Parts: sequence; structure tokens; C-alpha cells
Amino acid sequence: MQNKIYYTKPSITNLEVELARDAALNGWGESCYEYIDKFQEAFKAHIGAKHAIATSSCTGALHMGLKALNLSRGDEVILADINWVASVAPVVHLGATPIFVDILKDSWCLDPKKVEEAITSKTKAIIAVHIYGNLCKLDELIKIGNKYNIPVIEDSAEAIGSIYKTKRAGSIGLFGTFSFHGTKTITTGEGGILVTNNDDIYEKVLTLSNHGRARGESKQFWAECIGYKYKMSNIQAAIGYGQMKRIDELIKKKRDIYLQYKKAFLEFKNIKINPEEPGCVNGVWMPTLVFDKETELTFEKLQPIFKSNNIDARRFFWPLSSLPPFTRKENNIISYSISERGINLPSYHDITESDINRVVNIIKEQINK
Ligand SMILES: *Cc1c(COP(=O)(O)O)cnc(C)c1O
Repeated sequence: MQNKIYYTKPSITNLEVELARDAALNGWGESCYEYIDKFQEAFKAHIGAKHAIATSSCTGALHMGLKALNLSRGDEVILADINWVASVAPVVHLGATPIFVDILKDSWCLDPKKVEEAITSKTKAIIAVHIYGNLCKLDELIKIGNKYNIPVIEDSAEAIGSIYKTKRAGSIGLFGTFSFHGTKTITTGEGGILVTNNDDIYEKVLTLSNHGRARGESKQFWAECIGYKYKMSNIQAAIGYGQMKRIDELIKKKRDIYLQYKKAFLEFKNIKINPEEPGCVNGVWMPTLVFDKETELTFEKLQPIFKSNNIDARRFFWPLSSLPPFTRKENNIISYSISERGINLPSYHDITESDINRVVNIIKEQINK
């Protein structure tokens, strides 16, 4: 049997191990926030945002950000139908109603026209998710947002390394969120962060993230509202700080892997890979293929072939509206169709060129048949 090819796996070096060791030995008492501060500083400098609040997950960061918008029962939030469930869970937790709209064929992200059609008097936010690193049409979305006075939020969990024109994903909307789950471009095991240039959102989320205790409150244990406990630990932040020192290298490795896959499938006009618009950079968290219908290739067909070759196969996300908690919305035609015909390719930072070729060749064999 050939070696197993994982679809993802973190890149952890001695640097992260030593920092975590230092945090475990020394990061207590007065030093208990040292690495959290360092990590936040490094992350916001990288993204180009004014504020950053590290959290225990991206889901938690989104939850607090949406709470800071006063999202509540009866409100509506627009997001793409194709997404990981984490992007919608906080909307539901806050009692609001998600409105799933269809995606664009090429970017697999929100279709701005569908977004505008879905706006009602109850719409309180648009969540732009940069799926697999592919950028949403932010200019158009923000224009629509401004027209109706609705904030655009960037769930950038998959978009580390993605640059929209001159700005990094996550720094453009009212706030952005990122994930440092073990599968993501950089990791802290579990973890997330909220970034924003908006002082008001920052202060609100800071209070929410500290069990409702406002910054500068002199009374001990005084909560002015019911908040959350979604903090990142200092030990996790030490690992994240190490990853930030290597961020350019980690992003470059993801891009190199993408470029290798892109080149390999260039000759196949009926296979689409993550696009990269002129003037933008795709961080390509997950290099992903979508097979045109005529190829008759689907995830179902490829999965057993990948498995017998000891390669992880990872399907495209389901349309969220097809999951049991929601009502099917099959008029989101592109979402329902692409979901069956897409596959994420193995892309951990240290994957070898020959392992990439193994993956490529298996898919090519299937197309040529
Ligand atoms: C991974 C991911 C999340 C969830 O991140 P957690 O840190 O696991 O909460 C949210 N949104 C998107 C788009 C993701 O890919």
C-alpha cells in the first residue's frame, strides 16, 4: 500500500513547540495574557485591521460579532446556500432567520444579484463567506449593503492569504472572522479571531467576550450585560504566535500546491478549479475541483477510487438548506448542482510533489475513460 495522503494536516515546527512550552511553564499570573496580546498584534498587523480579539473558535467570534449588531428574533441574515454549517449556527443561536441565496458558478460565493433580491425590511446583515479562499464580490456586496444600510460581514475562516484588490480578506467588511481549527491554513488547535476597523464593534465584542464586563470597569465581577466565554488560552495563542512568524511561508506553500494542481488540470476545459480574479490573490485554503456535468464525474464516483489509493477524499459542502434543520431550497440551482460535482484536493503544507501527482493522475484516469 502506498503512503496515505491526508487532505489536511497542520505544519508545526520546533518554533511553535518551544513557544507553547514557554507559555505552559511561564505564562501564568501576570504573564497570562502575554501570548494572547502578541498573537493579536501579529494577526491584526498581517490582516491590516485596527482591532483583533482572539477567541476559542471562529464560530464564537461570529456569534459575538452578530450579537454586537443586536441581531435578534425575527431578523434576517443573508448568506450563501453552500457553506460550512458554522457560518449559520450563530445566526440560529441568536433566534434570527438565515436566508440562503444561490452562488456564482465560477467563485462558488454569494451572487450579489440574488443578495439584493433577498433583502427585506428585516434584513440585518449579509455574511460574505470566502469559500475555500475564493473571494466574494466585495465591492458589489458593500455597494448593496450601503444602499440598504445593511452591514457586510466577512467570514474569512478559509481566506487567510486571500487579497481583494489591495486589502486582505477580513479587513474590508464591518468585521471579519477567522478560524484556527487544525484543518485551517494556520492553527492553534481550536481557535478563532474577530478583526475590525470599527471602534464601536470592537468595544462591544470586547465586553461580550469578557462575560459582559466592560473595559475599565472598576467594580470587580461587575457584568453590565450577559456575555460569552469564548476566549483563546495563552498556550493556544503561543502556538498561533509561532504560526504568525511563519505566515508568509505557510501561505506560499498553499499557493504553490494550488498552482501545481491548476497547471495539471489546465488542459481540461470541463474541470474548474478555484478562480483568481485579476488584481486579487486567492489564498486557496482548499484547492477544489468542480467537474462539468458532461464529465459525469461526481464525488460519489471518486470517493471509493481515492479510498482504494489511500488518499483522503473530501466532498464539497452541502447546500445548508438541504440539511435537516432547514427547508430545502432547490431553486438555488447552482448550489444544489455543484455540491455533487465538487471535491477538495489534499493540500497540507508539506505534501510532496509526487503525492500531488498521484492525486492528479487518479483523477486524469477517470476523465480519460
Ligand atoms: C472552519 C470554518 C468556520 C468555523 O471555524 P471554527 O473555528 O471551527 O469555529 C466558520 N466558517 C467557515 C467558513 C469555516 O471554514
